[in-house]
Amino acid sequence: MTPAIERLLILQERDGRRIGLEQTLARLPLELKLAEEKIASEKEALAAIAQRLKEMEVRRAALDVEIKDLEEKARKYKNQQLSVKKNDEYQAITHEIETVEKAAGELEEQEIALMLEIDEAKEKAAAESAAHEKTIQLHEREVAAIKEREGNLKSELTEAQEDTSKAEATAIEPFLSHYKQIRERGVRFPLVVPMDVNMCSGCHLKVSGEVETIVRHQKEPAHCNNCGRMVYWE
Ligand SMILES: [Zn+2]
Repeated sequence: MTPAIERLLILQERDGRRIGLEQTLARLPLELKLAEEKIASEKEALAAIAQRLKEMEVRRAALDVEIKDLEEKARKYKNQQLSVKKNDEYQAITHEIETVEKAAGELEEQEIALMLEIDEAKEKAAAESAAHEKTIQLHEREVAAIKEREGNLKSELTEAQEDTSKAEATAIEPFLSHYKQIRERGVRFPLVVPMDVNMCSGCHLKVSGEVETIVRHQKEPAHCNNCGRMVYWE
């Protein structure tokens, strides 16, 4: 193996690490977004539970007001009755009082039923909310972990980029330029591969006799005529 190839192999290894880090980093925003979306939907579920309870309380408060109004009405009738002299008028007011009190009684029954319903709903809501809170905590920890990982990966990437630059600086031309061309074309790593007898070990196809001759001379970069990778003699 020539020094030119040796140095390219070092560059390739560092490049591989750098690209791997870049790809991992590129996936993180999506992971972060998914975790944040999960948190948002859990919070929506929590808000919906609270809203349901609130609506029940509003209904109860409205019933309360209606009952108090009816009771007030009954009180007024009773006061009115005190000053009534005629018997038929007295009977009419008695009838009104009974009607109003009956209505108030029915509403009170409704209110008691609703209060029981609210108690049950509160118990259920507490359990459901606790489950949602727990899930939120899990996702929040996940978000924190992703952010921490992102920070670590970024510093690792900076290091890997520096290592790559150093390896590029010591690489030998025209091998380096050829290597860069293959890299720019987005060929899958490894870009520099040994020959396996007369086969490219990158694509496992036989190279042409012409390429084989160049490889054996080891003077200039040789490329597999199938996949374009740089081939060398081990
Ligand atoms: Zn090949």
